[in-house]
Amino acid sequence: MDSFIRKKIQSTGREDAFYVLDLATVTRLWKIWKSAMPRVHPFYAVKCNPDPQLLSMLAALGAGFDVASKAELEAVTQLGVAPRNIIFANPCKLPSHITEAAKAGVVYTTFDSEGELYKLKKYHPQAEVLLRFRADDTGARCPLGVKYGAEWDECYHLLEVAKTLGIKVAGVAFHVGSGASDVNAFAEGIKAARKLFDMAESLGLPRMTMLDIGGGFVSDGGAGVKFAAAAYEIGNALEEHFPRETMADVRIIGEPGRFFAEEAFSLAVLVFGCRVRRREEGNKTVVEYWINDGIYGSMNCLLYDHATLSDEEDDAPLLDVELHPSIIFGPTCDGLDTVLSDVWLPRLQCGDWLVFPRMGAYTKSAGSSFNGFAVPDATFYVHCGAAPEM
Ligand SMILES: *Cc1c(COP(=O)(O)O)cnc(C)c1O
Repeated sequence: MDSFIRKKIQSTGREDAFYVLDLATVTRLWKIWKSAMPRVHPFYAVKCNPDPQLLSMLAALGAGFDVASKAELEAVTQLGVAPRNIIFANPCKLPSHITEAAKAGVVYTTFDSEGELYKLKKYHPQAEVLLRFRADDTGARCPLGVKYGAEWDECYHLLEVAKTLGIKVAGVAFHVGSGASDVNAFAEGIKAARKLFDMAESLGLPRMTMLDIGGGFVSDGGAGVKFAAAAYEIGNALEEHFPRETMADVRIIGEPGRFFAEEAFSLAVLVFGCRVRRREEGNKTVVEYWINDGIYGSMNCLLYDHATLSDEEDDAPLLDVELHPSIIFGPTCDGLDTVLSDVWLPRLQCGDWLVFPRMGAYTKSAGSSFNGFAVPDATFYVHCGAAPEM
């Protein structure tokens, strides 16, 4: 990976920051998922990173997809993904987006309010809905429960309304929050899901056949619950509440975003400015750098995704080099645009490049072109499977 990046920089004399997607990482993570959670079919959450090659790779591997808008839906249908392998997992959709799903033959969608059911009845009466209920991990990096998921005491009524309207209720869905930190949150969600299956049956609804355990997964090396631990707890909870013997007809899906995208992308940026400053406090010298991507671009994840970019452990291989307290600024003329405010680095020169690993989740997909600095539009594709050396 390192040598690929080095060659790319030297051979093109480029100035623009760029991404590298290692497709071998995607394949490896796919295998890890499949062996740890064979009963759970991953529907990749496109919002995490809609890179077209990533989507094609996942489609080729057999993934389904979670889309939340018309544009995401189009990106996936263009790949020829079967409609039954797509879920419109946005509980509150615009009418024109619902119409688009109906045209594409995509029937699965989530809801968590009565109003959404009326909309679906009007624009997509063939929809097969999943009741999204609230099952928060309150310690997740990005909790979603304040905005999405029906409260427990709303569920009965929502199922009744669906029944009255004649909308098919396919099943239930939850999302513990992105970057989950509590391994029990998934098991709690699965337990509650089973209660909803029983509730629907007691209401006289046809037996439900879909369980969607959402996203929140992190691949090893990222911040969150260890994947193996989450998979183990989920496997046990499924055996307890959705046993294979009696509930083999239930299709179980997940909506991982971060799990497949985060680790697979590295970001290379150019150092184009440098200033040495003596700080009053402690009479120390701080080296300040400017790089060509920042808070308004890929590193928006520091704000929106509550991400952290520096990892002390990774400094170890550099111990034979003298390190200096350093600051890294992004390119825009805003003081907020500071990527790392307190990091130990070797002395860098203008023209040096920095590589940030694990930059695939909620980075490029949420960046802007504020101040005329667009998010990197170049992505190079490799197939190597080794993480960049730090
Ligand atoms: C964002 C989102 C996901 C993906 O979450 P990750 O934490 O990236 O796995 C899945 N499902 C829904 C409904 C989402 O909003």
